[in-house]
Amino acid sequence: MVRARRAVEDLPAYKPGRNPADLAREIGVERAVKLASNEVAFPPLPAVVAALAAAAGETNRYPDNGAAVLTRALADRYDVDPAQVATGCGAVTLCQELAQAYNDPGTSIAFAWRSFEMYPLLARVAAARAIQVPLVPGRPGGPADTHDLEALAASVDDSTRLVFVCNPNNPTGTAVRRPELERFLDAVPDQALVVLDEAYREFVTDPDVPDGIELMRGRPNVVVLRTFSKAWGLAGLRVGYLIAEDPAVATAVRKTHVPFSVSMLAQAAAVAALASEDEVRTRCAAVTAERERLTGALRGRGVEVEDSQANFVWLPLGERTTDVAAALEARAVITRPFAGEGIRVTVGTPEEDDVFLAALDEVGAAAV
Ligand SMILES: *Cc1c(COP(=O)(O)O)cnc(C)c1O
Repeated sequence: MVRARRAVEDLPAYKPGRNPADLAREIGVERAVKLASNEVAFPPLPAVVAALAAAAGETNRYPDNGAAVLTRALADRYDVDPAQVATGCGAVTLCQELAQAYNDPGTSIAFAWRSFEMYPLLARVAAARAIQVPLVPGRPGGPADTHDLEALAASVDDSTRLVFVCNPNNPTGTAVRRPELERFLDAVPDQALVVLDEAYREFVTDPDVPDGIELMRGRPNVVVLRTFSKAWGLAGLRVGYLIAEDPAVATAVRKTHVPFSVSMLAQAAAVAALASEDEVRTRCAAVTAERERLTGALRGRGVEVEDSQANFVWLPLGERTTDVAAALEARAVITRPFAGEGIRVTVGTPEEDDVFLAALDEVGAAAV
């Protein structure tokens, strides 16, 4: 029998989240609410749909492998040179391409934990060592919830090639502020590339949470990852991008790019979305207003919810996590549980969030 690499055999099989239509059918309700994947609830903008329709008639051709139009639009938007930009089939693919570009077997990738689930998988597939630095508790005795940047900087050694900082952090929603992030960037040695994963940047409302693209300037070992999947509403199309201070980083990533993996439709939609930024901002403002309402409603029920800077909230339910998530699912609400730690709940529409809150009341989870 041909065997997969040991590192791959040992990986857990990907477990997709519940599909809301299947769940609704199974429990005999009209509609289930999915608050599990941090998508926005709004349908694509009209300009995006029009761009997709226009591009559809050309899909007998390959897409532009260099995504020149999109790259130029991003460079203009963020005031960088196109040579500093790389696009990818979702930001997750750029994470993989970064590891392929920078991690020889035996090197290491450092990141906080708990954070984005992709990071440890990335390390394993690259045969790199994962250096996981625990989050620090936000309150004495409270849930672990924010980056320990001093410990993360101290964990970097000669073998470290990539350091991920997810800001705001998925799944806790907490964010690091400017002074501590600047201190961190000053402390990380030049041979390690710091990847500021800002998938949720557009939902940040705290002015003290820095824009990574501004912090990156003048720091050649910093790159910023962003995506069209969350705020920009294009999760189904798969397109993300990276902006590097040093163009050599973008060049290296482009060399490991899976050819043509950013589709013609994805490129067209992303360009149209960028041109509609005002509408996207209005939508983000609605999401963050609803985030504050949801946070308040949860606190009013006695759930210890931290302030979130993303489009989800984190319920630190500890040992009760799995039971509560299952009970919510039985009431047609799909969330994202992390066993033994907590539940991540995407900010939905006000109606969806009310369904979630009503289910939570029935479950009695709030009585902590
Ligand atoms: C969702 C997410 C991404 C990117 O997702 P793509 O859909 O692949 O662009 C990257 N980082 C974090 C932390 C995320 O939550």
